[in-house]
This record gives sequence, structure tokens and C-alpha cells, in this order.
Amino acid sequence: MFRYDTHVHTKETSRCGHLTAEQIVKKYIELGYDGICITDHLHQEYIDTLDTKQWYSIADAYLAGYRTAKEWGDRLGLSVILGVEIRFPESERDYLLYGVDEMFLYRHPFLYDTTPQAFYGTFCDEVLIIQAHPFRNYEFIHEGCIHGLEIVNGNPRHANRNDRALQYALDNPDLFRLCGSDTHRIGDEGQNALLSCAPIHDSFVLRDTILRRDYSLWSKNEKDIILAGCKNIGKC
Ligand SMILES: [Zn+2]
Ligand SMILES: [Zn+2]
Repeated sequence: MFRYDTHVHTKETSRCGHLTAEQIVKKYIELGYDGICITDHLHQEYIDTLDTKQWYSIADAYLAGYRTAKEWGDRLGLSVILGVEIRFPESERDYLLYGVDEMFLYRHPFLYDTTPQAFYGTFCDEVLIIQAHPFRNYEFIHEGCIHGLEIVNGNPRHANRNDRALQYALDNPDLFRLCGSDTHRIGDEGQNALLSCAPIHDSFVLRDTILRRDYSLWSKNEKDIILAGCKNIGKC
């Protein structure tokens, strides 16, 4: 089995991140993971912290955490995969994107500056859209604008209400289920994982592995949720 964390932030890009890309890569190698998906935050508040308003420069700045992690991963032997945690202006809900590369970001300036429904309408065949920690602050998931949801989010500084997410997933069995650590600080890393029988080297393979339901989930602290949540996932 190959082990991946699908929700990780770097200090280089995410303003809430405390761990550098180098620290993250070394920690995940220590923990025996095969790879990590860097899902730094992309939203207006992040853009406002940058000096530039040119999209090409914004994308360069945004990719700094991923690129540094990828360099360390290539050097030390950890697959580093590009993802995005996007937030649209209408609310504080966050969505994880898989099946993206650097060119996707360059080709779509200010891609966050829309509604979740419009984003889904444009990209649903290309990008896998997974709502992150869907019950952290909210009672409602945007129906019709996601492919799936995190049934476990490991961030220990929030009330993620993972049990509610699991129930929503059980009530909506077509939705894909993930569980990520949402790593921001020391101690967050390696709490959760996606397990795959085949290696995953990039965001497209990660997307396709999820789409084929060819994976299982693992959680250090939420074993009951994972067990219950895996009934509709292929390999569990
Ligand atoms: Zn964050
Ligand atoms: Zn996150």
C-alpha cells in the first residue's frame, strides 16, 4: 500500500502555515508516507497580502510552497503533488482541488473570483472538487457543486464535526470521501491518509485514483468514522 496525505499546507504560501516545505517533506518521510498533496490556500485574502496584482506573479508566489516541497521531495524521495484549497468570495467555505497542474493555474487568472456553482459548471469535468471540513463552521453543504467531501479533517484547532460529515456522506453515497490531516503546525502531520495500491506521482493520477474509487482511507484518531465511511469505497 502507498500512503498519501491529501491536505497539507506550507508556511511559504499559506499565511496560517507554520511548517516550511522542507520540514514537511522530512516529517512525512520519517512517518513512512509515500507522498503529500500540497493544498495551500487560494483566496482574495491571500492575494491581498501580495505586492503584485499581476496574475502571472501571483501564481508564481502561490506555487512557491509547492515548488519548494517538490524540490525537497525529489531530492529525498517523497512524491509531492499539487492541489489547491480554494475559497470563493461568497463565504468562508473551502474546497480542495485535485487534477491540477501549474499551467492550470496560469491559464485561469483569479479562478477563485466566482461562485462555487459557476466554478463547478466550468471545471467539473476536469478538476475534482472536494469540500474541506464541510461541517467545521456550517450546517449546509453546497449541493451540486462538489464531487465529494472530507469525512475526516485532522486540524486539531477546530471543531470539525467529522461525525456530521460522515453522516452526510452516508446519506449521499455518490459523493467521494477523503480524509486529510490539514497539516499547518508541528504535530498535525500524518494524522490521516489515502491508501492506494499503486503509486501516485501527480495530481492527475490522484484525481483518477479517487474517481475510480480505487483507494481506502486511514485515520489515526477517527477509526470509527473511517470504518463506517469506507463501506462504499472500493478497496475497503
Ligand atoms: Zn490554513
Ligand atoms: Zn486546509
